Amino acid sequence: GGGVGDKVDYVFKVVLIGDSAVGKSQILARFARNEFSLDSKATIGVEFQTRTLVIQHKSIKAQIWDTAGQERYRAVTSAYYRGALGAMLVYDITKRQTFDHIPRWLEELRGHADKNLVIMLIGNKSDLEDQRVVPTEDAKEFAQKEGLFFLETSALQATNVDTAFTTVLTEIFDVMT
Ligand code: GDP
Ligand code: MG
Repeated sequence: GGGVGDKVDYVFKVVLIGDSAVGKSQILARFARNEFSLDSKATIGVEFQTRTLVIQHKSIKAQIWDTAGQERYRAVTSAYYRGALGAMLVYDITKRQTFDHIPRWLEELRGHADKNLVIMLIGNKSDLEDQRVVPTEDAKEFAQKEGLFFLETSALQATNVDTAFTTVLTEIFDVMT
């Protein structure tokens, strides 16, 4: 992609939310640039990155927004959520608190976003299986109850990151067409 004459059929905004340090920025770096950093610094200000994919023969530009540190101050603004068609709700499988905060994030998300919002619950850092404290079954059950998609990912190992985004983008596409 990126060449002159490339056409984009749709732009879908997707937001990343969840507690600080769960791996949101690294999930985005993996998806948008196929990069990963172990010492990622929290960045300031709202940022997004894009990646264009072909889904069902249409060129879809995913515009992925990253909270960039605001999650620490519960200061994610409505501008962040505005126009979002998808959301990645991320916790860290090695930090119970980040999973316990998911209902709060979900409430905030549902308070701001479109009613057709497609939501994927993501348990990140699946490479740290020996430090796991959130059982897969607990998250699966919660996701089912709330009508969310659910996957465990590793931004480090690139496990399920593309699958998570393509699942959400495909569902957005299916809902709107
Ligand atoms: P954010 O605050 O949610 O954006 O989290 P970051 O993306 O900045 O990641 C926080 C820390 O977790 C960084 O040290 C990352 O390198 C690390 N991290 C992110 N994803 C993974 C992962 O899948 N596995 C492991 N082991 N570490 C990760
Ligand atoms: Mg970040």
